[in-house]
Amino acid sequence: MQNSKIFSALGQVVNNTKRLIALVLTIDRKLTILYYATAAFGAVIPVAAGVLSKYLIDNLQISQQQGIGVLPVILIGLLATTYILDILEEVILWGYHYSYLDYIFRNKLQNEINYLYYTKVSHLDIAHFEDPKTQDLITKTRDTMTWRVPDFLRMFSYFLSEIVGYLSAFVILIPFGMWVPFLITCIAIPRIYLRAKHGFVQWSIYGSGAPQAKKLWYFGHLLQNKNAISEMRIFQSTNAMLKKYKQIQNNLFEINKVAVDRYLKVRNIPSVIEIIILLFFGLLFLPKTIAGSVTIGSYILLLSMMGRLNSKASGAAQRVGELYEHSLYVDNFFEILDFPIIIQEDQHPVVLDSTTPPKIEFKGVTFAYPKGKAVLKDVTFVINPGESVAFVGDNGAGKTTIIKLLCRFYDIQKGEILINGTNIKNVSLESLYKLLGTLFQYFTQYHFSIKENITLGNPNKNDEDAIIDAAKKSDSYEFIKKLPNQFDTMLGKEFEDGEELSGGQWQKLAIARAFYEEPPVLILDEPTSAIDAQAEYEIFNNLQKQYTKKTLILISHRFSTVRNANKIFVIHKGRITESGTHEELLHKKNKYHRLFTIQAAGYK
Ligand code: ADP
Repeated sequence: MQNSKIFSALGQVVNNTKRLIALVLTIDRKLTILYYATAAFGAVIPVAAGVLSKYLIDNLQISQQQGIGVLPVILIGLLATTYILDILEEVILWGYHYSYLDYIFRNKLQNEINYLYYTKVSHLDIAHFEDPKTQDLITKTRDTMTWRVPDFLRMFSYFLSEIVGYLSAFVILIPFGMWVPFLITCIAIPRIYLRAKHGFVQWSIYGSGAPQAKKLWYFGHLLQNKNAISEMRIFQSTNAMLKKYKQIQNNLFEINKVAVDRYLKVRNIPSVIEIIILLFFGLLFLPKTIAGSVTIGSYILLLSMMGRLNSKASGAAQRVGELYEHSLYVDNFFEILDFPIIIQEDQHPVVLDSTTPPKIEFKGVTFAYPKGKAVLKDVTFVINPGESVAFVGDNGAGKTTIIKLLCRFYDIQKGEILINGTNIKNVSLESLYKLLGTLFQYFTQYHFSIKENITLGNPNKNDEDAIIDAAKKSDSYEFIKKLPNQFDTMLGKEFEDGEELSGGQWQKLAIARAFYEEPPVLILDEPTSAIDAQAEYEIFNNLQKQYTKKTLILISHRFSTVRNANKIFVIHKGRITESGTHEELLHKKNKYHRLFTIQAAGYK
């Protein structure tokens, strides 16, 4: 790793440490301080033991020289020192810090991380979810944050303990001459440098999302996904997939091993040199010790503290390397927390009347997705309150995009979208969403009870008759009656006794939700693809009866459904090319006529 990269990695570790410490301090200030204080205290205990032993040994020497019979007292003191400090270490460090505090600290932190993550992600702009890179990041973060972030902070406590151990040994060595701890620190630098240089390479292979590691992760995702597994079984491609998975694993192992081998070659040389230099330092003080100007206790303390200083210096460096590895994942977590909110609500938004359908106008709307070409060009239309309108056109023409803009999932680049004459950018989003009820093709299959699936459309309304009515109108009633617990049946195989519905049944249930909600503007974007033509026809007849005074916006490929709309817009390559009633459009003999004739011929 180049020097500049090492410095930027260190900067990254420092930034993440600051941010995470600030975060844990807000979660539980006392616990955080206690957690790190006990870690630091643990590092001081061995040093204290060394110093006490020194004084006891020196006193032993003096008492022997002077013939004072205090030997048993001093030996007992030595024993007591060793075991009292051992007990302290066992109780405070191992019992309290590592077992108790670490558990509480980690659990509180994990809860907060998850809460922060889900709060942020559930408020993200839809644009973020439609960007594959962001989607990747969201999943990767969810899979790793719960252990990587706490591990970073635990590693920081190890680092702190190494630093405190290092500093205390440094201070103890000062009386032997400032140059002693200073030079011992210097001789550890080559090892620290090599560790950083080679260690980072190895760590960054998995951490930095190198292409191979990313692929491995993706294969892992496929190999546990129900749809992918079903497909792989039919295509009999499971073994081929597993083989590829293994290949990537082996590849990664080899890449990793090269870095580790390289590090191993350079690691041992500095360590051996360090030990030889420490031995040399020890020899330097030997004559003074023999002559008596350095006591035996001091000499033993010198030897143990030199070794300690040296190991703590490189230990701290190793911890930084490990912090860096976790830091790459901590970065992902913060990246998500820092995602900007793209759709900003006006400071003083206009609150719409959420009980009556509004007038909806698109005026010369041109729109391109982020980093994409324009997918809507100069689109102009009006939907009056209470109208039923349909959008038709080829796949990719821009129909769903119109709906997403009406829901203000994106802001447009040119033109205006007006709701009751107010620009959508100045409208209160809460009041807009109270008006709209939208069912997309990719609606959610809630693994709740049937009843909850229906009432989620309007959780504040508690009306048993309306639930049954919604089920009947959406053609769901018949299949619900046959389920073991009828409206109380749990759905989804995730739960014990959960029932799985067919694609069409799920769609009917989603439509029941819309019937139950009865929003002033109901938008249905092809939620009926898996429902047979007859049932769809009946469902829409019911809808149109219920929606005489409310607005119904519909996207469907079935002309039997579309033809009843008051107004039909034909979208072609992002433009409205025709509009009118079914009869008017047939009369024009353009695209609509062509599409209708093809489908009608198919039915004949
Ligand atoms: P339709 O509903 O008529 O089938 P869409 O409105 O879904 O068409 O898509 C219109 C065009 O916009 C297509 O070319 C599609 O590839 C593109 N598109 C849709 N969603 C996105 C997105 N999130 N990012 C970039 N391009 C998109």
